[in-house]
Amino acid sequence: MSAAPEPKVYGWCPGALRPMMSGDGLVVRVRAPLGKLSVTQARGVARLSQEFGNGLLDISARANLQMRGIREDGHAELIEALRDLGLIDPDARAEARRNVLLAPFWATGDDTHAIATDLSAALTAAADLTLPGKFGFAVDCGAAPVLQDTAADIRVERIGEALILRADGSETGLPVTRESAVAEALALARWFLKQGGAPEGRGRMRRLIARRGPPAAYAATMATTSFTAKPGAVPAGTLAALEFGQMPAATLADLADHGAIRLTPWRALLVEGAASLPPLPGLILDATDPRLQVIACTGAPGCLQALSSTRDLARDLAPHVPAGTKLHISGCAKGCACPGAAALTLTATAQDDFSLIRHGTAADQPLKTHLSADALRAAPELLTEGS
Ligand code: SF4
Repeated sequence: MSAAPEPKVYGWCPGALRPMMSGDGLVVRVRAPLGKLSVTQARGVARLSQEFGNGLLDISARANLQMRGIREDGHAELIEALRDLGLIDPDARAEARRNVLLAPFWATGDDTHAIATDLSAALTAAADLTLPGKFGFAVDCGAAPVLQDTAADIRVERIGEALILRADGSETGLPVTRESAVAEALALARWFLKQGGAPEGRGRMRRLIARRGPPAAYAATMATTSFTAKPGAVPAGTLAALEFGQMPAATLADLADHGAIRLTPWRALLVEGAASLPPLPGLILDATDPRLQVIACTGAPGCLQALSSTRDLARDLAPHVPAGTKLHISGCAKGCACPGAAALTLTATAQDDFSLIRHGTAADQPLKTHLSADALRAAPELLTEGS
């Protein structure tokens, strides 16, 4: 039997102005300013998703909203409508540069909100700064960091009363203030480029730091911590998880009746000021729902590279995943939905043909091969037996 084809690596992320073709049409990624959709914007995006696309919306691991199934001949008109909603950058390069993720529990005027606002404006204006497509900033200045498990290259975090600027991959950083954080963050981005962090336009901070360490002045120690988001009440409103990070556009429109929407990197939305939310298609409101333990990429037919479908199997296997264990189902070895290791991974190697990997990524050496979806449904213990 021939080996599964090597997945294609693009090295850049789709935006609204630079969409990517997928199996179900264009993917148009909306980078909402400060990761927030006002009620009007949320209703507008929901309507446009139905008008120009297939009515499905994804939330990405960088808290962007992806409109799926957009018709190529409708893209220009869609962009103008999104521009009218205040959701489009001046040009594609500014859109790519303004890659700022902020901890979703911010309050207006606090350090996270103020620094993310200023950093977004500074990046939009920094026309001479050409960073790799996936290079991003995390502004995470709440009482304790919540974004350390989320990919970012430059981080602003808090230790007690102090703010620390940190290069991803380093345990030490530079003490900054609310006033100095943005200039220092841009200086660190320029240092990354000067040090050769992006040969041929690609590269990540973590790789550079592993090679040569942070700048000498970055000596303040920052403790690392892990954060798991759970559906339910949070200080700024209510958090609702999305099944596999996707929802129908009608759900977004209905959620907007309850408040403005903050996008999070945890396949979840925060509805500002909402004390509770009604059950709506695609939402997970119960923190014990087994689907929260399963990660599944788009798979077939939505992704051109997918070798098999993923989400129906994920739904069926979810109740059988042991508590506290993550199952990742990937339509190919690229592992988009979970780039890191998971306790259990099923990687499609052909149509309805999966390999099982334990404690690894979708591309790692499998423990078992040639498992069909029906065999797994009939005997979910195949996932864990022998472990
Ligand atoms: S991992 Fe999934 S979404 Fe990513 S390229 Fe492969 S099939 Fe497509």
